[in-house]
Formats: sequence, structure tokens, C-alpha cells
Amino acid sequence: MSTMVKAEAVHKSFGPVHVLQGIDLEVRTGEVFCIVGPSGSGKSTFLRCINHLEKINAGRLYVDGTLVGYREKGGKLYELRDREVAAQRRDIGMVFQRFNLFPHMTAVENVMEAPVQVKRVPKAEARKRAEDLLDRVGLADKRESYPAQLSGGQQQRVAIARALAMDPKLMLFDEPTSALDPELVGEVLDVMKALARDGMTMVVVTHEMGFAREVGDSLVFMDGGVVVESGDPREVLGNPRHERTKSFLSKVL
Ligand code: ADP
Ligand code: MG
Repeated sequence: MSTMVKAEAVHKSFGPVHVLQGIDLEVRTGEVFCIVGPSGSGKSTFLRCINHLEKINAGRLYVDGTLVGYREKGGKLYELRDREVAAQRRDIGMVFQRFNLFPHMTAVENVMEAPVQVKRVPKAEARKRAEDLLDRVGLADKRESYPAQLSGGQQQRVAIARALAMDPKLMLFDEPTSALDPELVGEVLDVMKALARDGMTMVVVTHEMGFAREVGDSLVFMDGGVVVESGDPREVLGNPRHERTKSFLSKVL
């Protein structure tokens, strides 16, 4: 089993605020890796570090065996150039709590935008692929709709299709259902489940413990910028060993 993400003693501070205080974890290729924990524990910051939206201050972070954002030479780290960072980011898809679709573009235009602009895929080809992806997330009939004409659940499914359009080897989800009305959560989780079945490597920050239990292969509980507890989701959620985990779960379950 190969490794898709490896974090070794990852630290991240914002000024005096020490947010990530030594994260160690390993995401295997093809697995669904869930991260749970209280608000402010550093979950989003960790995902943002994987996706180059933040730079770590210490430790090592690897995606698919390659150091994120740096090159190591003679024991020293050198920051990658913008172009090299862009190349690394291209392989990582991210879905946020807020869908962040381009409001002036239709669903299909949103999905084809990055392949056309970033990968220089010919428009007709990108459109065909975008249509297939919208089919896959159950939105074949919404291709020409603008974000404002779609429900939150539909917008989030477009956002997932948009991330998939770049053929990522890793998908990051940051509380993808937290901003949705309860009745729309299921349709987004179903798309994520299908993606998991197709073998996509996924790191999912979520409060949906049912999803974690059903679909997750691994789970970590984060608190205060560290991994407090990790293991099989059913084991950690069903039989938490640490007080902090127990206390958190008693509030969300
Ligand atoms: P979570 O996603 O687990 O709720 P976050 O990673 O968003 O936690 O935030 C962890 C902590 O880092 C919080 O205290 C937050 O205020 C702080 N933080 C996050 N981003 C920034 C930033 N850009 N500047 C300053 N502080 C930040
Ligand atoms: Mg967050």
C-alpha cells in the first residue's frame, strides 16, 4: 500500500498563534481519511498546508512522495518557485464549506474553466468532459444553470465536479456539508461515497460521523493542533480512549 500524504511533525503558526503543534499522520493511497475535532483545532489549516494555501513552519509534509512547497538539498529546504507550486497544486482537488463557484458562469463553464485555462485543454473537449462529470454528480439537467439558480447541494456537487475536472490524485474536503440545509446533506455525501468507491484518495474534514463510520478507512481526532487519537473510524468513534475525544464525541453524536 503506497502513501499519498505523509505529515511528520508539521508545525504552523500565525504570528504568535501556534496552530499546528506537530502533526504526524499518513494517508494511504485510495483511502478515505477523516479528520474530526472541535472548531479551532487546526483542521482547515492542515488541509490548507497540503494544498499550498499555507506554508508550514517546521516538519515535513509530503504528497505522493514529494515534499510540498519545498525542495530539499544537502539537508536544507528551499522554497519552490511559483510555477513549481502551481504544478504541485494541479494534482490536488479541494472542496470548501462554501462552494466558491464563479457566479457569472454556468455549471458546465465552471467545471471546464480550469482545464481550459490551466491545462490548455481544447474547449470542445473540456466541455464534453465537464458534461460527463456533471452527469456523474447527478446534474446532467443543470449544465446550463448559473450557481444562483442551484440549491446549495447542487452547487456543492458542481464544486466537486469542478475539482475532479483536473484529474486530481488527491481530493481534500473541508466540511463540505456544513453550510447545507439538512435535507441537502445526503446528496453531497452520496457523491462523495461514489467517489470513494471509485478509489479516489480523500481527506475529509467532517462532522458527519455517520459518513466517517460508513465510508472512512481511517480517522484522526485533532484537538489543540495535535492528533490526539487515530485509527479505524468505527473503533475511534465507538470506543474513544482519550478524555478529549470522549468529550468531543458526546457533544456531536
Ligand atoms: P478548524 O478548521 O479546526 O476549525 P482552523 O484551522 O480554521 O481550525 O483554525 C485554527 C486556529 O488558527 C484558529 O485559532 C484560527 O483563528 C487560527 N487561524 C487560522 N487561519 C489564520 C490566519 N490566516 N491568521 C491568523 N490565525 C489563523
Ligand atoms: Mg475549519
